[in-house]
Amino acid sequence: MAWFTRQKPSLEGGPPTDGEKNVRTEGLWQKCEACGQIIWRKAIEDNLHVCPKCGHHVRIGAAERLQQLFDDGKYEEHDADLLSSDPLKFVDSKPYPQRLEEMRGATSLPDAVISASGLLNGRRVGICALELKFIGGSMGAVVGEKITRAIERSQAQRIPLIIVSASGGARMQEGTISLMQLAKLSAALMRLDEAGVPYISVLTDPTTGGVTASFAMLGDLNIAEPGALIGFAGPRVIEQTIRQKLPEGFQKSEFLVEHGFLDAIVKRTELKNYISNTLNFFLA
Ligand SMILES: [Zn+2]
Repeated sequence: MAWFTRQKPSLEGGPPTDGEKNVRTEGLWQKCEACGQIIWRKAIEDNLHVCPKCGHHVRIGAAERLQQLFDDGKYEEHDADLLSSDPLKFVDSKPYPQRLEEMRGATSLPDAVISASGLLNGRRVGICALELKFIGGSMGAVVGEKITRAIERSQAQRIPLIIVSASGGARMQEGTISLMQLAKLSAALMRLDEAGVPYISVLTDPTTGGVTASFAMLGDLNIAEPGALIGFAGPRVIEQTIRQKLPEGFQKSEFLVEHGFLDAIVKRTELKNYISNTLNFFLA
């Protein structure tokens, strides 16, 4: 059985409401969940959804992310017609096809990633951005296939690839088929590496599970936003397994840079130019 089908998704519902999850909304004003200050909503939006008072990075959705990174917010989307076929006939609190349908309505997205290409500071690049609001940004066959195709497209066209992760990991509802994506993606990234086309991984809050265990940590450069939760298993599971208290700030991006798991922390307001400068360096 095919793991996904090709058809036009029905995407009813409003546009994604990025950044509203972490910030209480009161019309023109927002309360920053980190510093508690009441800030003019437009001041946060103009600052790419970073609190201008304390620098807290509010979570943003995939579409907002692509708009921030591509020149004039313009991009061409790829493989938007790939939809999960529910290969395991999975039912948890509700049947998986129903969950997918509700998610498509809530996010106006066909699945948990947008694959796109366009210009970044005048250079043609491919960018995939994961959408946390779509079943926790989880990776099933569709996310795996769309990212694999993006990798292969980057290789064929020799354009750099950037993947912005925000994910709870593999998608439970697709079981082992989700886990197989880890191997498929890793093999595709190896071929991209051999072809000498740069790949930059951007890890945002949160990036965990099978996404951390595959493409998110396989960049030529692995960079993260400040204060992002990044790990494989959650801290509670680790504490119960090793029977030890974990150190302060464990699994935050700052801790991971300090211990050599990441290359750099880059503020969202500097991200686009940082990527651009890095590509200039790689491709000089
Ligand atoms: Zn703040």
